[in-house]
Amino acid sequence: MSILVQKYGGSSVASPEKIRAVARRIARAKEHHEQVVVVVSAMGKTTDELLGLARQLSKEPSPRELDMLIATGEQQSSALLVMALLEIGCPAISLTGAQSGIVSSGVHTKAEILDIDPTRVVQELDRGKVVVVAGFQGVNGNNDITTLGRGGSDISAVALAVTLGAPVCEIYTDVEGVYTADPRLVPRARLLGEISYEEMQELANLGAKVLHPRSIEFAQKFNIVLHVRSSFGQAGGTLVKGAGDLEKKRVVSGVACDLDTAKAVVLGVPDEPGVAQRVFLALAEANINIDMIIQSMMRKDRNDIAFTVEEGDLPRVIEIMDRVAAELGAEGVAHDANVAKISIVGAGMISHPGTAATMFGALGDAGINIEMISTSEIKISCLIQEADAKRAVEAIHERFHLDS
Ligand code: ADP
Ligand code: ASP
Ligand code: MG
Repeated sequence: MSILVQKYGGSSVASPEKIRAVARRIARAKEHHEQVVVVVSAMGKTTDELLGLARQLSKEPSPRELDMLIATGEQQSSALLVMALLEIGCPAISLTGAQSGIVSSGVHTKAEILDIDPTRVVQELDRGKVVVVAGFQGVNGNNDITTLGRGGSDISAVALAVTLGAPVCEIYTDVEGVYTADPRLVPRARLLGEISYEEMQELANLGAKVLHPRSIEFAQKFNIVLHVRSSFGQAGGTLVKGAGDLEKKRVVSGVACDLDTAKAVVLGVPDEPGVAQRVFLALAEANINIDMIIQSMMRKDRNDIAFTVEEGDLPRVIEIMDRVAAELGAEGVAHDANVAKISIVGAGMISHPGTAATMFGALGDAGINIEMISTSEIKISCLIQEADAKRAVEAIHERFHLDS
C-alpha cells in the first residue's frame, strides 16, 4: 500500500487562493497514492502575528499560554485546507497534533516529539480520507499543548512519515528546493539536485532555514528521503538523502548565513586555571547555548574571552557576565548584536587543504574583517559585521564558483 506524506509551509498556504492550489495538488497526489497525509504550517506570517499580539499584553508571556495561542495558527490552516479539499470532492479530515497522537515533551515553546500513536490517523486513512495534520504541535504528559520551536512543522512531517512507514517526505516551500545559498540573498545561487543528510544538517544549523535541523536528524536516523520542492511549480526540487559516491563529494556544497547571533566578550580576565570553566558554567546553568569561542592572546597576566550566543539570549548573557566578571575581577564585559555568522559546508573539504584560505581570501579581498573563526570536519564559519553579510555570502559564493 503506497503512502505519501507531504508538508506545506506557511507561504504555501498564505491565502485562500494558495490553499485552493495546494488542495488541487493534494487531490492529484491522491490519484497516485492510496494514502496521503499532509502536514501544514500556519498561514503566512500568522505565528509572528500571534506572538506580536501576546507581547502587546505581556512583556514575558506565560510559555504555556503562548503555546495555546500559537498552536491555533496550524489549526486554522489545517481546517481551511480540508474545506478546500472537500469543495473539490476529495474526502479529508483535519486533526490537531493531539488528535494525531503526537506526544511531545513538557518544555513549552521548544518541545520535542517523544512518540506518535497513529491509531486515529490510520483509522481515517482507512476510511479513504486525506488526513491533514496541524504541524508544529504535540501534547505533553499533562495533556497540555506544546510547540516544537520555530519552523517545527518540518519535524511533525518527518516524524509522521517515520511512524507511518513512508519512504519519502515531500517538503513544499516557497523556493524550488535547496540552493547553494539562500536564493533571496544570492540571486545567482544554484539549485542542488541532491545533498547529503550531513551537509544539509550543517547548512540548516548554520542558518539555512529551508529545513528544520531536527527534521533532517530524524530523516537520517530512519533513512527517509526528504524531497524539498516548490508549492508553486512542477520543478524537480532537491533530494536530501544518504551520501552517494565518495569520489563525487563537493568541496563546498553551500554557503549559509545566520543573522540571529550576537557576540559577548569578558575583558581582561585573570590568566589562571579554572577561569573559563567559571564563565561557561554560569551560562550552562542558565541553559544558554554557546556557539563560537575565542580566548585571545595573553597580555601581561590577562586574557579576553569572546563567545557567541543566540541574539535573543544576549540580555540574559550580559546580566550573567556582569556578575561573573565582578566575581573574577575581570576588567569588564562588551557585546555586539550586529554580527553575522557566514559558513561554508562541504563533505569534500576534509580532503581539500586550502579551503579555509580560499574563504578567508574572498572575505579579505572584499575588505571584510573576520572577528571569529570556527571549524569542524565539513564546515568553516566566520563571524563578521552584519552589515557585510550579503556581500560576504556573494563573495564566497563566487570565489568557490558555486553558480556554475
Ligand atoms: P516554509 O514556510 O515553507 O517552511 P521557510 O521560510 O521556513 O519556508 O524556508 C524557506 C526559505 O528558506 C526560503 O524562502 C529561503 O529564503 C530560505 N533559505 C535559506 N537558505 C536556503 C537555501 N540554501 N536553499 C533554499 N532556501 C533557503
Ligand atoms: N508556524 C510555525 C512557525 O512559523 C511552524 C512552522 O512554520 O513550521 O514557526
Ligand atoms: Mg520552515
